[in-house]
Amino acid sequence: MNDLSDFDLKHIWHPYTSMTQPLRCVTVKSASGSRLELDDGRSIVDGMSSWWCMVHGYNNPRLNQAITDQLKSMAHVMFGGITHEPAIKLCKKLIEITPPSLQHCFLCDSGSVSVEAAMKMAIQYQYARGKGKKNKFLTFRNGYHGDTFNAMSVCDPVTGMHQIFSHTLPKNYFVSRPECGFASQWSKHYIEEFARTIKRHHRKICAVILEPIVQGAGGMNFYHPEYLRQIRALCDKYDLLLIADEIATGFGRTGKLFACEWAGIEPDIMCVGKALTGGYMTGAAVLTSSKVARGISADGGVFMHGPTFMGNPLMCAVALASIQLLEENNWQQQVAAIEEQLRRELSSAAELEYVQEVRVFGAIGVIELKDQVDMQTIQPLFVENGIWIRPFGKLVYIMPPFVISTEELDFLCKQLLTTLNEYYKQGE
Ligand code: PMP
Repeated sequence: MNDLSDFDLKHIWHPYTSMTQPLRCVTVKSASGSRLELDDGRSIVDGMSSWWCMVHGYNNPRLNQAITDQLKSMAHVMFGGITHEPAIKLCKKLIEITPPSLQHCFLCDSGSVSVEAAMKMAIQYQYARGKGKKNKFLTFRNGYHGDTFNAMSVCDPVTGMHQIFSHTLPKNYFVSRPECGFASQWSKHYIEEFARTIKRHHRKICAVILEPIVQGAGGMNFYHPEYLRQIRALCDKYDLLLIADEIATGFGRTGKLFACEWAGIEPDIMCVGKALTGGYMTGAAVLTSSKVARGISADGGVFMHGPTFMGNPLMCAVALASIQLLEENNWQQQVAAIEEQLRRELSSAAELEYVQEVRVFGAIGVIELKDQVDMQTIQPLFVENGIWIRPFGKLVYIMPPFVISTEELDFLCKQLLTTLNEYYKQGE
């Protein structure tokens, strides 16, 4: 195994890593439920759901079955001029479970690509109405929407990972991150900057894009639903579209099937990904209202996007099975139980001198530290302590599969706190 691991270290890029000073990766041999089995025989508890997506855990028999059944008829077929049952059934399901005004579905291959498609749709929609000058976007700071170019252009311009590219990116409009927490007291001053910016620049803006309620990779910030209601009204008033990026929040993670439901609003365009396929395959979708779909297609216009793997049948089959499983599994109860346990087991960390704040929302538990962690030191410590957690910056968080047992989650929380203690003791 060491030869393979050495090859990996020398030749293979992992997410956001250096090729000259890479950290050695742990090798996972298999995974099942909420556990990852390492090549050296150790079994560790997964606190990440593989970046939010494995909601049903690993190696789920129903999802395995769905994908192997589909494999027997076809793994892939192009979507241009061809359709098939898995795609039709998946799109029908997505249209059923997302807000009622979303009636059209564009399938694509990853979250970032769905954000690109959504942004292109907004530009094309305004263009088709003779409003080609409305081609900029307005968004919050501290947001994250993906790693492709247009998606990067609406990620936080300072704290985001994309500073290096800022001079080459399209220029968009930003307002301060939402300061009013989910359960805090709302006051109308919180929306003033947003309202002012829309009022001043709406002639150049085609859409607002945001992550509803939870700003994920840009800071794990949970904000008040009133923002969404106010922004929906402002978009209507100034003739802008609202794009909800539900890639991280969709499919139950926040305690609602989609986070927009916390505010009772409907976006014009919604992106979903990650947990769409239960984490089995890369896959995403963009849903739009008829207003947007018809607008783009007015005067014979076509939407200018069509990935090679659009509507991949394996992806569609496993996504449909994952949504059905979610419905049968009583995910509300699973998420509520995880939330309650995370609150109980993590809240004491708020007293620790190195901790800035502890936040829990849905099946997401966040410990914000006062300083950035050193990944070289902390990552192996987590594994030695039997858990898989991947912090970024000052944020150490748990986002377990919904099927995690009470005992496993208890272990995860305890070992997380133990690891942080060991890490800070080493630094003394
Ligand atoms: N939007 C949000 C809110 C995300 O969290 C992510 C992924 N972390 C993306 C978009 C990009 O998705 P992908 O990594 O599948 O391209």
